Amino acid sequence: MEERAKEMQEQERRIKIRMAKIKHKLAILSGKGGVGKSTIAANLAIALARKGYKVGVLDVDIHGPSIPKILGIRGRELATGPPGIFPAKGPLDIRVVSMDFLLPDDETPVIWRGPMKMGAIRQFLADVAWGNLDFLLIDLPPGTGDEPLSIMQLISDIDGILMITAPSEVSQIVVKRAIGFTRELRVPLVGVIENMSGFVCPKCGAEFDILGIGGGQKISEELGVPFLGKIPIDQRICEDSDRGTPFIIEHAETPAAKAFMQVVDKVEGYLKQRGTQA
Ligand code: ADP
Repeated sequence: MEERAKEMQEQERRIKIRMAKIKHKLAILSGKGGVGKSTIAANLAIALARKGYKVGVLDVDIHGPSIPKILGIRGRELATGPPGIFPAKGPLDIRVVSMDFLLPDDETPVIWRGPMKMGAIRQFLADVAWGNLDFLLIDLPPGTGDEPLSIMQLISDIDGILMITAPSEVSQIVVKRAIGFTRELRVPLVGVIENMSGFVCPKCGAEFDILGIGGGQKISEELGVPFLGKIPIDQRICEDSDRGTPFIIEHAETPAAKAFMQVVDKVEGYLKQRGTQA
């Protein structure tokens, strides 16, 4: 038992050293699944890398990793060497670590209980040679269970959480609890992003209110949390993710990509205000 405690302490020491080389750590969270966390994490990574930042993405969605697919780098292998596990390199030199790289095929499920998942997360943080990064984006699975809890406990200097919601009340209720979670753990919240907010017809430019509009803004007003923007539904987001081509580059002129870039500006503004500009 004492041996195990020592091992964990040693691992935490390594995590501190690795994390000290990364200027900003941002986590992408939502109470709900399917609201666009991974899509937003991947596109945010691309946007930041395009601005000249060195970016890494840690896909902590152990059961349903999708960052490699969205970034078009499925099937890569994680090499190891004396500095540790090397992350896979994605577009614009984005470094990526995901459970997806470790699974043998598309059908193999990850059937792990909490302690196994926590062990994997600890290893991702302690043994991956991220190197010096400006940003590490952490894509969390839905909910407020073991994975986000481990991340918040192991990375003591997280710059903030980006909370993703769909406009629906069903999503709002769950996301409010997730905001409560960040407050309980005293982790700063960058703000709320409302994804799938209305639909702009690519042909005629008309706006349709498909899943609703305004739910994210409502949460931010009710709970006194900054609102970072609304990203509309755009089928090209889904198509680009399936193809592994970055939407915000491929379709930079769309209202969704522009809304996205505004979110990026707000994130930079938040960091500037905190006095930790990248
Ligand atoms: P999560 O990580 O929250 O589970 P994903 O990022 O995997 O959600 O998104 C779920 C699905 O919705 C994906 O197929 C993605 O391409 C699609 N999607 C996400 N945001 C949008 C959007 N604004 N417009 C259209 N499709 C979207």
